[in-house]
Amino acid sequence: MSAQVLELKAPVSGVVIPLEQVPDPVFAQKMVGEGISIDPTSQQLMAPCDGKIIQIHPAKHAVTLLSDCGIEVLMHIGLDTVMLKGDGFSPAVAEGDQVKQGDLLIEFDADKIALAARSLMTEIIITNGDKVARYQFTSGNVVATRDTLMTLQLGTPESTDEIDQEGLTKEEVSDWISIPNPTGIHARPAAALAAEAKVFQARIQLERDGQTADAKSVVALMGLNVKLGEKVRIVAKGRDADEAVDALTTAICDGLGEDVSASPASQIEESIEVEEEVSLLAKTSSDPNIMLGIAASPGIAIGTVHQLQHEQLTFDELANNSDAERSALSDAIERARADLKTLQTKLQAEGNISNAEIFAAHQELLEDPAIFQQAKKAIKEGKSASYAWHKSVHEQIKILQAVDSDVIAGRVADLEDVCNRVLKQLLGISEADTELATNTIVVAEDLTPSDTANLDRTKVIGFVTTLGGATSHAAILARSMNLPALAGVDPQVLTLEEGRQVVLDGEAGTLNIAATDQQIEALKAKQQQQVERQQKAKAHAHDLAKTNDGHHIEVVANIGNVKDAVEAVKHGAEGVGLLRSEFLYLDQATEPNEDQQAQVYTEIADALGSDKPLIVRTLDVGGDKPLPYLPMPAEENPFLGERGIRIGLNRPSMLKRQVRAILRAHGHAKLKIMFPMIATLPELKAAKQLVQEEAADLGISGVEVGIMVEVPSTAVLSEHFAAEADFFSIGTNDLTQYALAMDRGHPKLGWQVDALDPAVLRLIKLTVDGANKHGKWVGVCGGAASDLLAVPVLIGLGITELSCSVPAIPEVKELIRNSSLAECQALAEQVLQQPDADAVRALLQQQ
Ligand code: PEP
Ligand code: MG
Repeated sequence: MSAQVLELKAPVSGVVIPLEQVPDPVFAQKMVGEGISIDPTSQQLMAPCDGKIIQIHPAKHAVTLLSDCGIEVLMHIGLDTVMLKGDGFSPAVAEGDQVKQGDLLIEFDADKIALAARSLMTEIIITNGDKVARYQFTSGNVVATRDTLMTLQLGTPESTDEIDQEGLTKEEVSDWISIPNPTGIHARPAAALAAEAKVFQARIQLERDGQTADAKSVVALMGLNVKLGEKVRIVAKGRDADEAVDALTTAICDGLGEDVSASPASQIEESIEVEEEVSLLAKTSSDPNIMLGIAASPGIAIGTVHQLQHEQLTFDELANNSDAERSALSDAIERARADLKTLQTKLQAEGNISNAEIFAAHQELLEDPAIFQQAKKAIKEGKSASYAWHKSVHEQIKILQAVDSDVIAGRVADLEDVCNRVLKQLLGISEADTELATNTIVVAEDLTPSDTANLDRTKVIGFVTTLGGATSHAAILARSMNLPALAGVDPQVLTLEEGRQVVLDGEAGTLNIAATDQQIEALKAKQQQQVERQQKAKAHAHDLAKTNDGHHIEVVANIGNVKDAVEAVKHGAEGVGLLRSEFLYLDQATEPNEDQQAQVYTEIADALGSDKPLIVRTLDVGGDKPLPYLPMPAEENPFLGERGIRIGLNRPSMLKRQVRAILRAHGHAKLKIMFPMIATLPELKAAKQLVQEEAADLGISGVEVGIMVEVPSTAVLSEHFAAEADFFSIGTNDLTQYALAMDRGHPKLGWQVDALDPAVLRLIKLTVDGANKHGKWVGVCGGAASDLLAVPVLIGLGITELSCSVPAIPEVKELIRNSSLAECQALAEQVLQQPDADAVRALLQQQ
């Protein structure tokens, strides 16, 4: 071969067929490129020249070789063979392999393929024809590796100078498009797409999931390996970028020459477009300005909308000026470091040491030399600073993810955080952009518990989510923070403009998006009444909650940290009925050790005092409560999976560390341990034995062990559990979801998950009856304990302890003082006979 000529040997033996005669328009019309076909008589595909394997299709029927002189040779065995998904093909090489002419590339089973596919005709195509000045083809029969198939006279590659640099500043990006082709973008649709793209001057990229490919290169498109239903978008730069995006969007939606009318992806798309029907059970608003939601936390908030989005950061893969990109990255890292330092100092000043430490650790990650060096290398190779940084951090993450360790998992979460912080700097998304106005009502699809906990309480006065329900954890936090909240609101709320004035009524479950002055005045009056009622109750917060016929009901608090414990005491709590221990660790990157945990429990106990009960619930994660340092494999049904006590029973060493830490707070308060989500007696016995062993080891005695009753099986078999447990606390949030088989955070079902459903009330009665047989007491720590409508019913059913959200305590106590046990019992009798939750609520509202 001279420098200007490349000779390709026949990769298979057989009869040479001109490409125009191949019964597939993609090849025949040379959409993939110029080339030739062979109807094979051999079953081995050999290298036609020396070069490097740059691509093997996942279906193993096609391979691309990059010759040493830069020519891309695609060899495609058979027609429609992508459908065989690799069956009948055995590649002998891998991507990246260097091969010599005559080396075996793919062995194939001709009989099998001939039966299943349209044809065995094997195409040999030059996909970067712009580098070839002339082709010379052979004809007749050829013998693999011996006979020359084609001779290429190489031409000068197209000069990039021809590209209109000025036009490159114009960028157009399509919407995300779902691929309708049943076998994705394989050779044929890739060819059609590239052919369409080549019509335009613009530089065009196809993007999928952070990866991009040159839309004019068939090989690059095939390399993306885009599958049915995956989402892609087109990014075009140049004067005709608009036209390119329009034309290519249409071409992709139309299937790129394939019949996609019956494809599941088009059905998915269609079904998305179908207008959602209104449920037969839907509660609709007659006023278009009032959006209905689930009353997740009481109170009225009049403020302005802030749409909280967990934004997707997007960026180009390539950049022109490496020096500029490198210095942009250094600057971005520097600014991110400065931000972190400011945050750390602020949190330290606020006494929030554990969070301050997280941000200190993030600064260290920013200085990780391996990440920076790797990113610099990628920038040198022509990548943009954002792409290089993202890739470099994610390569580290991949390495860490291969290590099965809880500690490492926390570090992965930190790296993600640090990665995004720098990306935001690079993309010009400053934190100042998200600075909140005073009286902000946060609107979001959903809020994670840590999102909720991190809300700026000086600015945020309420929130609205389209997902979640009254017992979702975000709602629980909202109640504990005394923030009015709505859940399950129509997703239209996400389109409300920033800064729009809205009025949220957390009791009525409404969001008025165009309140008149008159309506605002009326709501302000209602708000005032609520405040006065609360203040009056608060003035008597420390009085005992004794019914007017003399029965003491213990009113205690649900808390998640030391601050809550202090607040609880101020609000008149007689102790703590539920310390949600998982809330203590939601922001931790790694599991706190026994000493650290013991210190927190002791601080909480000290905030209460040695005469007050402190019921610590062991870690209750899983379901809707993820814990960063505890990676959980994805589950089909997380609420029915490894959740609650099951986490601890399956990781006894972790449970043991926590139990020992809790026990070490013994004496600082009247300490009790409670297990979440007990469903069977063996679970209780195993967990209890662990506590007894650790207590014996620490020389501690007299610590009561109780259980949450939140699974119907436990309520039904209550008397057996009562023989083992010292007390019960009913988790009405979960008991309701499990009794009604409705996910407590489900966007469509959430509003029906009502603890006042008579089915749930009957389970409560069963629990109390079983406990009474062994003289054990029963409390309620679910949301129903803070619901003023539910409280008299619970008392009437025999509940003697109510563990409430802190702000609700004074009013619950006041209500108890105004009730009589006898009346509550009569009321309970009545509600148990009701057919549904609406009937119960209607009856209670008449009282
Ligand atoms: C409950 O299920 O009612 C409960 C108190 O537990 P949590 O809400 O934390 O799941
Ligand atoms: Mg629960």
